[in-house]
Amino acid sequence: MEAKKIVIIGGVAGGASAAARARRLSEEAEILLLERGPSVSFANCGLPYHIGGEIADRSRLLVTTPESLRARFRIGVRTRSAVTAIDPAKKEVEIKDLESGEVYRETYDALILSPGAEPVRPPIPGINSPNVLTLRNMEDMDRIIQALDGKQHATVIGGGYIGLEMAEALRRRKIATALIELAPQVMNPADPEMVSILHQELTLNGVDLRLGTSVTGFSDSAKGLKLSLSSGETLETGIAVLAIGVKPETSLAKAAGLALGPRGGIKVNDRMQTSDPAIYAVGDAVEVTDFITRQPALIPLAGPANRQGRIAADNIFGRDTRYQDTQGTAICKVFNLAVGMTGLSEKAAKRAGISFEKVYIHPTSHASYYPGAAPLSIKMLFDPQSGKVLGAQAVGSDGVDKRIDVFAVAIRAGMTVFDLENLELSYAPPFGSAKDPVNFAGFVAANALRGDVRLCHAEDVINPAAQQKLLDVRTPGEVSVGTIPGSMNIPADELRGRLGELSKEKEYFVFCRVGHRGYLACRTLTQNGFKCRNLTGGYITYQRTIGMAAHEMPEAHHPENDFGDQDFQPTAKDTLLKRVKTIDACGLQCPGPILHLKQAIDDIQVGEAVCVTATDPGFVADAPAWCNTTGHELASLEPAEKGSYRATIIKRSPAVCGNVQQSGKRAMTNVVFSNDFDKAMAAFIIANGAAAAGYEVTLFFTFWGLNILRKAGPVTARKNLIEKMFGFMMPKGPDRLTLSKMNMAGMGLAMIKGIMRHKNVMSLPALIGQAKLSGVHLVVCTMSMDLMGIKSEELIDGIEEGGVAMYIDRLSRSSAGLFIS
Ligand code: FAD
Repeated sequence: MEAKKIVIIGGVAGGASAAARARRLSEEAEILLLERGPSVSFANCGLPYHIGGEIADRSRLLVTTPESLRARFRIGVRTRSAVTAIDPAKKEVEIKDLESGEVYRETYDALILSPGAEPVRPPIPGINSPNVLTLRNMEDMDRIIQALDGKQHATVIGGGYIGLEMAEALRRRKIATALIELAPQVMNPADPEMVSILHQELTLNGVDLRLGTSVTGFSDSAKGLKLSLSSGETLETGIAVLAIGVKPETSLAKAAGLALGPRGGIKVNDRMQTSDPAIYAVGDAVEVTDFITRQPALIPLAGPANRQGRIAADNIFGRDTRYQDTQGTAICKVFNLAVGMTGLSEKAAKRAGISFEKVYIHPTSHASYYPGAAPLSIKMLFDPQSGKVLGAQAVGSDGVDKRIDVFAVAIRAGMTVFDLENLELSYAPPFGSAKDPVNFAGFVAANALRGDVRLCHAEDVINPAAQQKLLDVRTPGEVSVGTIPGSMNIPADELRGRLGELSKEKEYFVFCRVGHRGYLACRTLTQNGFKCRNLTGGYITYQRTIGMAAHEMPEAHHPENDFGDQDFQPTAKDTLLKRVKTIDACGLQCPGPILHLKQAIDDIQVGEAVCVTATDPGFVADAPAWCNTTGHELASLEPAEKGSYRATIIKRSPAVCGNVQQSGKRAMTNVVFSNDFDKAMAAFIIANGAAAAGYEVTLFFTFWGLNILRKAGPVTARKNLIEKMFGFMMPKGPDRLTLSKMNMAGMGLAMIKGIMRHKNVMSLPALIGQAKLSGVHLVVCTMSMDLMGIKSEELIDGIEEGGVAMYIDRLSRSSAGLFIS
């Protein structure tokens, strides 16, 4: 083979892989690896774990040293050597020795660019403060560790995987930690209902999670930094770690005239060749093709970078090896949980206009009777015609990696859900189930495609139409912890004997805890001539979709020794308790832990306590809900050993419990009389806030208030002339409202909407959607409709009609009521 000189820019994931592969392919080649930093081939993925202390020995992060690359591979390694320019015509690079300052040139026959991606630093006032740090390499890591010295509080900005890993690392160092994320969810590539449980996990582990919030400014303060937030608040912190994303390092490529792709990365072909045939580029700096959508994408992950490095070297030495696109297989540890994904998410499918169906399953990581079984939640997307698997996401404390990897292979191999049914996967009770969760996802999806059952989703049950009815087939014990508003309960085992209670005119949205009993019930109903659909993923998916996560729990439910104590010693209140019963409900799924809790509470005296340990993450939401409905007191709720959760509940007297049971959930009933934009905003902000705080909220729309709920487009409704004229003069829906003051022919309104966008305040239509998702009752006054000539067809879906009696009834059950006029 002809001797070649290969120059590689960047000596970590892609660069070091390319260099080692090049040597394996050619003993004659001259290989020169140029790295700006002091180390090559370090484990950037391990950096957060050294900060957190799991990887105690810093040197373990240095996977290879320049010396060992020289000795084993005869690679010329020059660290602290920054390439400052490329001259494609002369096939030369310009290098600056960062130690001596010397600038010199090297020629190449083939050049490989692997410069990676740099952290995004938006132009926020004060962002250049030395206390605002980023994490990309060993030096950044050392700087963060040094800056944390003596600090009591730190803030992570950005809830992607680096941000999440940093938040955990900081809590492991017993530092009070805030995590600020602009989106309403962490881990943005995943779908929101799959990560709402991570919000709970973060909060339980003492992270002050602020979603839907951005930082608008940094200023130095006595404690280190003061952050101004989009919420209008300020936050005193020691340091801030900026982890809001990365952007490809393309400056060298751009200056050399290499083509960039539409997403801003270096454009390459499937041989990793740039627009200059002698120059290859790999890793985070390049644009790839998304395996599913076939769209250009930036997917900065270590696996693709390493494989691309190999492929570039292969092609330089005449091997026809092709990169086969990126499907975005990723996993992240968040305290006791892991979240993993591969292929298409629902969000991405919608963005790309790809049609899909989805199923959710909530099995256990291994046979539920073998100790240590942990709940696992899986969402799978597939093509509704062919059944081809398009994407999967999983979250749980055990077994996420194994399932995501099987899905990743299935997607790569172009398998369908029917193939998943037939996969033969390893099984013994400590490791899995005879029907593995991946097989199960296949069964559920294939059942739907074969027409054995029709599916419905949380989005459907939140907004049922008039002829649709919700049927909860769980046991009364399960229902006592919570159900979907408006549903009727017939336990699955009683269904055949109670079919007379159902109507063949209606369509039933059937649900159980995870979807299995719902499926059985649907089979019974269908064969008896009823119309029905099964809620895939059942009540658990519904809860996760509406975001019933514990980060919204009242303060009292958090460990009281918050911040600075990762071990969560019992609280002072706990130690004073006479803890007569300890229950191990690990491995049990809902309602198991709650049923055990109830049994134990029945057996003890008032004032005594039960301490329950459970592995079901749903228990974190169920325990407070059960206490709320029964009146017993939740003394503490905290993460415990091996991914479990521990709740301490004090038995309260029948008098207290009786009051709670009588009054039920706290309620608020507000009248919305006005159709002014500002007043409508206030009405929905209050309603959403109250719903999040656990109130059952009713908004009663009367007179002008009705206009807020009108559909924007043309609606055919039978009206007389006066009604038509009246309807024409009044605003149609939230986008047509005006300000009550300073509207200035719409200028004031436009200004307010601009400010709202800038400050990330939800729009009025989004607030209305959120209110519906949170179960806020939107009731329209039928008398006002009649007076103003507004017909039901003109109003948005999912609202109730009622009169003054309904209003008075709701008000009499409420502890608060406002008149918004
Ligand atoms: P890098 O590995 O970043 O290497 C680029 C190198 O090029 C840098 O060392 C840089 O100094 C050098 N360089 C740049 N310009 C020049 C120049 N002009 N001259 C000389 N040298 C130059 N991915 C995962 O898949 N899983 C994970 O768990 C994971 N965790 C991560 C955690 C952290 C904290 C970080 C920062 C990244 C993580 N990643 C993870 C991403 C993964 O590390 C990257 O996708 C991968 O390293 C990209 O490889 P690369 O070769 O393109 O760039």
